[in-house]
Amino acid sequence: MIMIDSYDLIVIGGGPAGMMAAGRAAERGKKVALLERNDRLGKKLLMCATGRCNVTNTAPLQGLISAYGKGGHFLRTALETFDNEKLRSLLLSYDVETIVEHKGRVFPKSQRADSVLKALETYMRDGQVEILTNMHVLRLISENNHVRGVETNHGNIFGQNVVIATGGLSYPSTGSTGDGYKLASGTGHSICPTYPAIIAFETEETWVKSLQGTPIKGISGPAILDISKRLVECLPNGSIQIHIDFKPNRSTEELDSILLNQIKRQGSKAVKSCLTIFVPEKLAPVLLIMCNIEPHKKSSQITTPERRKILKQIKGLHLTLVRHRPIEEAIVTAGGVSLGEVDAKTMESKLMKGLYFAGEVLNIDGPTGGFNLQAAFSTGYLAGNSIE
Ligand SMILES: Cc1cc2nc3c(=O)[nH]c(=O)nc-3n(C[C@H](O)[C@H](O)[C@H](O)COP(=O)(O)OP(=O)(O)OC[C@H]3O[C@@H](n4cnc5c(N)ncnc54)[C@H](O)[C@@H]3O)c2cc1C
Repeated sequence: MIMIDSYDLIVIGGGPAGMMAAGRAAERGKKVALLERNDRLGKKLLMCATGRCNVTNTAPLQGLISAYGKGGHFLRTALETFDNEKLRSLLLSYDVETIVEHKGRVFPKSQRADSVLKALETYMRDGQVEILTNMHVLRLISENNHVRGVETNHGNIFGQNVVIATGGLSYPSTGSTGDGYKLASGTGHSICPTYPAIIAFETEETWVKSLQGTPIKGISGPAILDISKRLVECLPNGSIQIHIDFKPNRSTEELDSILLNQIKRQGSKAVKSCLTIFVPEKLAPVLLIMCNIEPHKKSSQITTPERRKILKQIKGLHLTLVRHRPIEEAIVTAGGVSLGEVDAKTMESKLMKGLYFAGEVLNIDGPTGGFNLQAAFSTGYLAGNSIE
C-alpha cells in the first residue's frame, strides 16, 4: 500500500504525547495523520498507575518546573501553554472528571485509564485526525534540510511537518523500543545516554526477596523510586549503602516509650507482634533476627539492650543496593533527544525544518506523581500548537 496523500502534520506514535500533538494540530484546522505501530493506541497509558492513570499533579507552575530537574527550564513554555489545569479542563470537556489524591496526584474520578484514552481518541476524531494503526515508521524523508514525510512498513507518507512522539525505552512490549532515537540521530540530532529513571533495585540482603509484594515505605514506595535516578547514576561507582528510617517523624526516645508501652500491654505475646505498629508484619521477624532476637520470644522478656537494638533498626535499617533492574522495567527513561537542539518555544528541531519532538523521547523525566504524563501532554500540545 503506497500512500501519496500529503498532510500538514504526521505524528509518529500514538501515546499521550502523540495523541495530544495530533489533537491540538487538528483542532487548529490542520490535516493530520497519526501513525502507530501497534494495533491500538495508548498501550502504556493504559498501564499508568496500574490502570488508574495518574494524569498530572496539582503543583503550581514553579513546582512543576522544578520537578523535572535540569529539564524543567526547557519545559517552561510547554507548561505555560498547556498546564495541569488546562489538561484537566480538556479532559472534563470529554466527560472525564478528575480528582486529587495524596501529594497533589490527579486521577480520573472513574479511576480508569481507558477513560483518559477515550477522551484523547475523541479529541482527535473531532478534528478528523486520520489514525493509522499497524503503521511502523522506519525512516524520515527529507529534502534540503526540511522534513517531507516518513517511510513506513506500508510505504511512504508525505507531510509538511512530522512530530516524533515515540516514547522511551521502557516496557518495550508497549511499542516504546527507542525508534525515535534512531529517527532523530539519522537527522544529526545528539542523543543523551539513556538509562532507567524510576526503577527498582536489587539488594545484597537476600531477606528482601522474601518480602516481595509487601509495600515498605522506603524500599518500594515513591521515596526510593523518586531518588532512583540519582542512585542509578551512582551505581557504576560501586554498591550503595542506604539506611531506612521507618519513623522519621519520631525521635528514638519517643519510639522507646511507645515500644515500652506495647511491651507492657502485650507482655505475654511474641515480641514480633509488638513491632507491627512500626514496620510491616512480614518485616518484623526479619528485623528481630537481625538483632539476634528470637521473634517468638515473649515481649516481657525483652531486655533494655535488646530494645535499643530494635530501635536502631527501626530508625536506620541498613540495605546494600547492588544493581538496578533493567531499563525495560523502568517507569520512565532518562536521557534522549538533546534539549539544546530543540526549540523550547515550539518543540521544533533546530537542525531540520518541520521536525518536532514531544514526550519521553526528549531528554526529560520527572518523579512519580503525574509529572511524566504532564510533560508528554504539554510538549505534545505545544508541538501541535506550533506547526505552520
Ligand atoms: C508501568 C508504568 C506506569 C506509569 N504510570 C504513570 C503515571 O501514573 N503517571 C505518569 O505521569 N507517568 C506514568 N508512567 C510514565 C508514562 O506512561 C510515560 O512517560 C508516557 O507514556 C510517555 O508518553 P509518550 O507519548 O512520550 O510515549 P509512549 O506512551 O511510550 O508512546 C509512544 C508510542 O509510540 C509508538 N511508536 C514507537 N515507535 C514507533 C514507530 N517507529 N512507528 C510508529 N509508532 C511508534 C509506540 O508503539 C507507542 O504507542 C508510567 C509508565 C509505566 C511504564
